[in-house]
Amino acid sequence: MSVAPHPAVVLGHRFADELPEMALPWRAEQAPDPRLVVLDEELAAELGLDARWLSGPDGARLLAGTAVPEGAEPVAQAYAGHQFGGFVPRLGDGRALLLGEITGPDGRLRDLHLKGSGRTPFARGGDGLAALGPMLREHLVSTAMHALGVPTTRSLAVVATGRAVQRETPLPGAVLARVAASHLRVGSFQYARATGDLDLLRRLADHAISRHHPAAAEAANPPLALFEAVAAAQASLVARWMLLGFVHGVMNTDNTTISGETIDYGPCAFLDAYDPSTVYSSIDHGGRYAHGNQPAVAQWNLARLAEAMLPLLHEDEERAVELAVASLDGFRTAYEAAWTAGARAKLGLPAGTDPALVAALAEEFLTLLQAPRADLTSSFRALAAAARGDAEPLRRNFLDVDALDDWVRRWRALDPDPGAVERANPLYVPRNHLVEEALEAATAGDTGPFQRLLDVVRAPFEERPGLERYAAPAPPDFGAYRTFCGT
Ligand code: AMP
Ligand code: MG
Repeated sequence: MSVAPHPAVVLGHRFADELPEMALPWRAEQAPDPRLVVLDEELAAELGLDARWLSGPDGARLLAGTAVPEGAEPVAQAYAGHQFGGFVPRLGDGRALLLGEITGPDGRLRDLHLKGSGRTPFARGGDGLAALGPMLREHLVSTAMHALGVPTTRSLAVVATGRAVQRETPLPGAVLARVAASHLRVGSFQYARATGDLDLLRRLADHAISRHHPAAAEAANPPLALFEAVAAAQASLVARWMLLGFVHGVMNTDNTTISGETIDYGPCAFLDAYDPSTVYSSIDHGGRYAHGNQPAVAQWNLARLAEAMLPLLHEDEERAVELAVASLDGFRTAYEAAWTAGARAKLGLPAGTDPALVAALAEEFLTLLQAPRADLTSSFRALAAAARGDAEPLRRNFLDVDALDDWVRRWRALDPDPGAVERANPLYVPRNHLVEEALEAATAGDTGPFQRLLDVVRAPFEERPGLERYAAPAPPDFGAYRTFCGT
C-alpha cells in the first residue's frame, strides 16, 4: 500500500499567543496503537483536510495527538467554573488539549481540540483518559445535533488508543478530536476575573469579540455588546434544546460557551416521554439541570458571566451592575421570542400568526403530552399527518383524546402546512435505548450498530423505509435511563 504524502496541516496558536496566562504548553500522552474508529468526512472537507490521509496511520497519530504538525503549539486551557452552583477557581483541560486553530477553505477559524489525550497539570485526581463508549457518544450526539440544525461543537473523529482505561471495569481507551468555533466558556471569563488581572480580562473580551461577535467591536460599549451577543446566542441555543427535548445534563458555567455552541456531551439525553422534570444524570440529585430548568440555568450562568465582566462594563461599579442587570433582562425576552418562533415552525403555522396564540397553543400541546407521558418526538412529527387530515397516529399517543381532538380542531383552523411540520420535526433523534445498544456493541468490538445509527441521525427529517425502529420510543422494559459525567 502506498502511503499518501504528509499534507500540510496548518495549526495556528492565536489563543496561546493572545492569552498566554490561560494557555499551558502541553503534549498528548503516547498511545500504544492509535486506530481510527470513525471520521466525519464531511467535516474534514469543510476544514480542508484530506479524509483519505486522515484515515491512514499518520492521520490517526495526528488525531490522537501523538504526532504534532510542525509549527503547532498544543496547550491545555485554563478555566474556572461553577459546578452545580459551587465555584471552582481552577478547572481547566484536565484530559484535553487545544491542538491549535485551523482555517478552512471558507475562511472560518476553528479550534481543533483533543479529549482523552492524557493527564495535564489540571487533571486533579483524574487519569486524563477517556473510554471509547463516551467518546463515540459525543461523536454521535453532536453529529445528530448538527444535522438537527442546533449550533454545536463537532466531532471530527474518534481514535482508539489501544490502551485500556480503568473505570468500573477496564474499557478500551479513545481520543475524540473535537472542532469548535472556540473553546471559550463562561468559565474562561471567571478564570480571568479571578486572577485580578484586568488587562487579561480585557484581552480575553477582545479575543472573544474578534472570534465570535465582531459586530460588538463597533458598539459604543464593546464589552457590554459582547455580553448581550452571548446572551442572545445562548437564548436561541437553549430554545432549540427545549423544543427538541434535549437535556444537556451538566450546564455548569465551564460547559457554557461564549460562541453559543452546545458543548460537552457527557450526561446528555433526549426525552422520550415529555416531562419537564426529567433528569438523567446520575449526579444531579437535586434536579438542578432538569429539562424544564434549562432556560433559568442559562440565565443564571449568564449572570455569572456578567459578574466576571463587571469591571469591563463600566468603571463605576454601581453603573456596571445596572447595565448588566438591564442586559440580563433581555435574555428572557430573547429566549421567549426564539422559543415561540421555533414552536410556530413545529406547528407548521404561517409566519404572520400571532406569537401569543402560537405560544399558548404550543404550551397547551405540551401539557396534553405530559399527562399520558406521550413520546415527544413522534407526537410532534405526527402533526404532519394530522395537518393532512389523519389524526390517528397522533391520537394513539394520548389517553384523553377529547381534549386532544379539541386542540387539533383549533390548530387546524389556523391552516398548518404539513410539509413545514415535517421540516421542523425530526423523525429520528438519538434515542437513549438506541444509543446504549450502539455503544455497548462498539465497546465489545462491533461498530456496526453505531455506524447504522450515525447514518440515521445524519438525516433526521427524511423518512426512509426500513427505519421504523429508529423512530419508535424505547420498549417498556428499557426502564429509567441514567447517564454519567467525566467518563
Ligand atoms: P466535565 O464534567 O467533562 O465538563 O469536566 C469537568 C472537569 O473535569 C474538567 O476540568 C475536565 O478536564 C476534568 N476531567 C473530567 N474527566 C477527567 C479525567 N478522566 N481526567 C482528568 N480530568 C478530567
Ligand atoms: Mg466540560
